[in-house]
Amino acid sequence: MTRTVIQGGLVVTAAEELRADVLIENEQVVALAATGSSVADGWSADRAIDATGMYVIPGGVDAHTHMELPFGGTAASDTFETGTRAAAWGGTTTIVDFAVQSVGAGLRAGLDAWHAKAEARCSIDYAFHMIMSDVNESTLKEMDLLVEEGITSFKLFMAYPGVFYSDDGRILRAMQRSADNGGLIMMHAENGIAIDVLVEQALAAGRTDPRYHGEVRRELLEAEATHRAIKLAQVAGSPLYVVHVSAASAVAELSAARREGLPVFGETCPQYLFLSTDNLAEPDFEGAKYVCSTPLRPREHQAALWRGLRTNDLQVVSTDHCPFCFVGQKELGRGDFSKIPNGLPGVENRMDLLHQAVVDGHLTRRRWIEIACAAPARMFGLYPRKGTIAPGADADIVVYDPTARQTISAATHHMNVDYSAYEGREITGKVRTVLSRGTVVLDGDAWLGRAGHGRFQPRATCQYLS
Ligand SMILES: [Zn+2]
Repeated sequence: MTRTVIQGGLVVTAAEELRADVLIENEQVVALAATGSSVADGWSADRAIDATGMYVIPGGVDAHTHMELPFGGTAASDTFETGTRAAAWGGTTTIVDFAVQSVGAGLRAGLDAWHAKAEARCSIDYAFHMIMSDVNESTLKEMDLLVEEGITSFKLFMAYPGVFYSDDGRILRAMQRSADNGGLIMMHAENGIAIDVLVEQALAAGRTDPRYHGEVRRELLEAEATHRAIKLAQVAGSPLYVVHVSAASAVAELSAARREGLPVFGETCPQYLFLSTDNLAEPDFEGAKYVCSTPLRPREHQAALWRGLRTNDLQVVSTDHCPFCFVGQKELGRGDFSKIPNGLPGVENRMDLLHQAVVDGHLTRRRWIEIACAAPARMFGLYPRKGTIAPGADADIVVYDPTARQTISAATHHMNVDYSAYEGREITGKVRTVLSRGTVVLDGDAWLGRAGHGRFQPRATCQYLS
């Protein structure tokens, strides 16, 4: 047995902040005791980690990543190996990635393919959601089986006709099924049919630059789809989780539904909180670096997102990490913004950016931990194994230096992508030490982790509903 003690830090969870030592046996937290107390001083350990002046926080849970996702004739540039390593460098110790069902194939084949990609390659723990591209009698039945084996959430798309898109009838059927089997439907809420008309018209008029990606993917079409998804879920009697909410009017739809008492949840991402259409308009095709869907919005939307996070109308911040290199990948869309692969890198930056939001006064420390660790763990059935520091929890712990300064840059990040969406941004706060199930995987500038340490995590159903 290995006993580790983390001494003298400020333990911050979603629920409380306390000066405490944390005792770890093998892979789990077994006790907390006030620093300097006779209990803590009586612990003997094989290894002591000094956390004086540091925060001791649960490892981040990023509930929305796309490692190696095939998209637009190319694939996301982070593998499960490079992507999970970068996540750990940024203080995230669990990812929930998306297995993809191809049209015409079953859910099982897609899930098996993603297990094969991730197996023995991850340096932190991982789980899967299932993207349903083809809702039919047989895949509806498969949903039940997946829920039983710990794949308890299913993503559907109102966007991307001809690729991932489901029409309202298919969406309703999947929601009805999840109302029965306990699954959670995650929705990409944009009206893709209408957007495709606007794309065609923009291109015909010679509007081909990256900024038009943001213009055709109209805010109204996010709000409309969000509203429609809520009503479909209400008809089906199912819960709903809306991914990557970027528009103020979509937040308003979620707020209204929650005021009615509906089990409706929302996620936003750092790019919508820190970036805007100003980035999409950067000259010389640089705007392509910021093409993702839902798109970045005008800066004015950010206030509504921060407010939603404070009022709990939005519960989770995930990254939607889906990196494509500028050279050779984003460039596929030179002269036609609709061919720019959608997605941007961020899995390494989320915990730091949200800590900066604490420094800037947008969030409290505990709310930082809630939206980045505890709420995603609860939402997707991983709590309290993940997302908190408590006896019985996995020892996924970050020792975080709240006063260190760093500058985000592609020159120093660990994601396998040739640019940073936050290049040059100065951040107060930095990860110092990371433990994944009791194993130190990162200490200062030293990477100690290994591909294959990370384990697949079967998940319970959404813990906000039971
Ligand atoms: Zn996504």
